[in-house]
Amino acid sequence: MECPEELDMNKARKLIIAGNWKMNKTVAEALVLVQDLKLELANVNEVDIVVCPPFTALSEVAIALRGSNIRLGAQDMSEHKPGAYTSEIAAEMLKELSVRYVILGHSERRQYQKESDEVVSKKARAAHAASLQPIICVGETLAEREAGQTEKILETQVLGSLAGLNNGQMVQTIIAYEPVWAIGTGKTATTDQAQEAHAFIRALLVKLYDDATAWSVRIQYGGSVRPSNALELMSQPDVDGALVGGASLEAQSFADIVKNSI
Ligand code: PEP
Repeated sequence: MECPEELDMNKARKLIIAGNWKMNKTVAEALVLVQDLKLELANVNEVDIVVCPPFTALSEVAIALRGSNIRLGAQDMSEHKPGAYTSEIAAEMLKELSVRYVILGHSERRQYQKESDEVVSKKARAAHAASLQPIICVGETLAEREAGQTEKILETQVLGSLAGLNNGQMVQTIIAYEPVWAIGTGKTATTDQAQEAHAFIRALLVKLYDDATAWSVRIQYGGSVRPSNALELMSQPDVDGALVGGASLEAQSFADIVKNSI
């Protein structure tokens, strides 16, 4: 599907590269990593750069990032308002810590916490209500791809996870296409596989939202992104950034992914 000429959004979308640290880094380790990243990435303005530490490090990392070009993200949040939900974290609490982005529906949460599209959509609406920008993850397993179900799975996850988001909220939403078989496995989707899935998601957005919205949404690729494959992936017309797991835990490799993507 071609972007309407008058919009000409292809590659007008600013790349967004986010590091998902998962359940890694003590506060002390997190601070070392961000200090190194600040030095490495100080002059990069072409890309929106985001780090997503564990909840326990958000407060200190927020202070360390003040005045820098690196933004803060969280890895999850509750769909509920503050209240009697033991161990949960509300959007308002993240907002107070200068968190701007929140990863929702990561495949590890879908798998281990059985998080459904419905829950993801509730979280996405709660994130927007607190002016946080959700990064909504979707992606098929290897068995689903091999069974030829990739598009069906993506359609179900995209429709379900975005339910209830209006045009204005969608512009402020990021989608991460993360084929589950490529996460943490060292197997990256080929550029063709990535572009095909991203274009399919873009076509779904065109059906769901007005053209200006659908073509402005940024779609990240995630799954074994490395400094060596970043540029090739990022050069695809519908790949607008990356969600990086393993390679974001070390300053040099994350910084190289960002720099190599430009
Ligand atoms: C992820 O978990 O979001 C991810 C993409 O991990 P990795 O880069 O390690 O494959």
